Amino acid sequence: MPRIIYDGQSYECKEQQSVLDCLTAHGVTVPSSCHAGICQTCMMQALKGNVPKSAQAGLKDSLTAQKFFLACSCYPDEDMEVMLPEAGVGKTTATVVDVTLLNAEIARLRLQPKAEFKYKAGQFTNIFKDAHTVRSYSLASVPGTDEYLQFHIRRIPNGLVSNWIHEYLKAGDEIEISNATGDCFYVPGNADQSILLIGTGSGLAPLYGIIRDALFQGHQGTIKLYHGCETPESLYLVNELRTLSSRYPNFSYTPCISGTCTPHNNVPGGYACGMVLDIALAENPELSSWRVFLCGHPRMVATGKKEVFFAGASMRDIYADPFENAAAASVQTIATAVAS
Ligand SMILES: Cc1cc2nc3c(=O)[nH]c(=O)nc-3n(C[C@H](O)[C@H](O)[C@H](O)COP(=O)(O)OP(=O)(O)OC[C@H]3O[C@@H](n4cnc5c(N)ncnc54)[C@H](O)[C@@H]3O)c2cc1C
Repeated sequence: MPRIIYDGQSYECKEQQSVLDCLTAHGVTVPSSCHAGICQTCMMQALKGNVPKSAQAGLKDSLTAQKFFLACSCYPDEDMEVMLPEAGVGKTTATVVDVTLLNAEIARLRLQPKAEFKYKAGQFTNIFKDAHTVRSYSLASVPGTDEYLQFHIRRIPNGLVSNWIHEYLKAGDEIEISNATGDCFYVPGNADQSILLIGTGSGLAPLYGIIRDALFQGHQGTIKLYHGCETPESLYLVNELRTLSSRYPNFSYTPCISGTCTPHNNVPGGYACGMVLDIALAENPELSSWRVFLCGHPRMVATGKKEVFFAGASMRDIYADPFENAAAASVQTIATAVAS
């Protein structure tokens, strides 16, 4: 079995065990968040040994060349000596501008980065509560249009980082954030292409950035947003999105409620009733040549990817950000390991 050498200690890496799980099992703290190879929080650097290609998926060429890799998706085939990236690599300090509630469970966090912060609307960054507690959040702001970085943070019961942001962060606090990453953003060109965006809960955050980015860059094709929540109270930015759709005739917005109505009665005016994915696909059954964005609940995103593909969208036109969380991803990894 390969061994992982970290900080002068050597640890045996079991079969089907990632470097992250091996180190964590031996009491080594490695910052991590999604455990699914998406958020890049668990990035490490190899000093010796072969880095499997799959552990570098999504990393920039400049990082792969320096043998950086994602510990959660690194299943070594030989001994590796590894280290955490130097403190501060890929991080920026940002000052909290404000934290304001958008509804009872979602807060808007605005940040002013201290140094130049390059990003595209819809990408995500990792917010550090402390050196080891990190979570990913999507950028709802549009560079060049919005003065500050903007995030929509849903408060999760007992959630470490979301509650810290809701309860403790205040104007003037300084926090660390990572560089922006991810490929869920609007690419100009093909300005007549139709765009379908489907999100649940705070999955609206990247979509809110992407839609405004596309409209402000002069996208001419149809842009349709379906935002799903359980109750009308859980939806947010409803007025802003309705105003945007009255200003831009090519943009339409359908707020969907899954929990408190049936299709034939009890549907408040201006809302669609049912699961957001079902509604979006029933109204748009033919998606060949469309660009599609899916963000939010991991199950909706996974099912959505398959269904929009079967409706004709090409894989290269489907962009998805499942809001994975570490605990759920670990359960899934264990279930997969047990099943295999
Ligand atoms: C690429 C990416 C982008 C993301 N963007 C956003 C965003 O823009 N806005 C946003 O609010 N979140 C976003 N998330 C989710 C975010 O990273 C955290 O997972 C979430 O805020 C929970 O973190 P926490 O520390 O509060 O909870 P934790 O301390 O991690 O979890 C506490 C408990 O709550 C459970 N839990 C965690 N998340 C959820 C959930 N979503 N629903 C139900 N139970 C849960 C856990 O399983 C655990 O039992 C994104 C995730 C990814 C991977």
